[in-house]
Amino acid sequence: MNFSVAVYCGSRPGLDPAWAEQARIVGRWIALHGGRLVYGGGHNGLMGIVADAALEAGAQVLGVIPQALVEKEYAHHGCTELRIVQTMHERKRIMAEEADAFLALPGGIGTLEEFFEVWTWRQLGYHNKPVGLLNHKGHYDGLLRFMAYTVAQEFMGPWQMSLIEVGDEPESLLRSLVQSAGLSSAAGLDQI
Ligand code: AMP
Repeated sequence: MNFSVAVYCGSRPGLDPAWAEQARIVGRWIALHGGRLVYGGGHNGLMGIVADAALEAGAQVLGVIPQALVEKEYAHHGCTELRIVQTMHERKRIMAEEADAFLALPGGIGTLEEFFEVWTWRQLGYHNKPVGLLNHKGHYDGLLRFMAYTVAQEFMGPWQMSLIEVGDEPESLLRSLVQSAGLSSAAGLDQI
């Protein structure tokens, strides 16, 4: 395994089939570049789709799931490694430690919470790993407009916005995150 990407995404598939397709592309890309997927360990929604795509393409997949969610989110027992932990905090800590970069796809409040957490941890210097937001089909335009408004209202500075990478296509965004993490040669991106 050359690098690990933590993917945060919905425990539901969402309405537009494009979200599932994006999740599949992400899982395949990680596998084809020798990476490992780190994710919440569930079988539902986009979480299951990204994991299945990564597994089918031969990636290592680390799923980290709290005991209380094993049945609710249908723990994915096909993961190459499934860690069942006691608490949500333990899950998030392990995911953050095991990843070299973070990527959020469309999702609900769980996804948003995880994305904002790793973003805020970065601004505080708890880690220095790249954080990406996949804004395919403008899914997150409304959120990004709100964040721009928050900057305009001086509750945060533009430098905090610069701590996330936003992209509308998964391949180029993943490539950029892996490069930002300093792992492009491990992923074979130097030869391209
Ligand atoms: P959702 O985006 O709400 O579909 O949830 C995606 C994933 O985030 C699921 O694995 C949830 O268990 C997880 N999740 C939900 N709430 C939280 C939370 N407060 N902190 C971290 N993860 C959460």
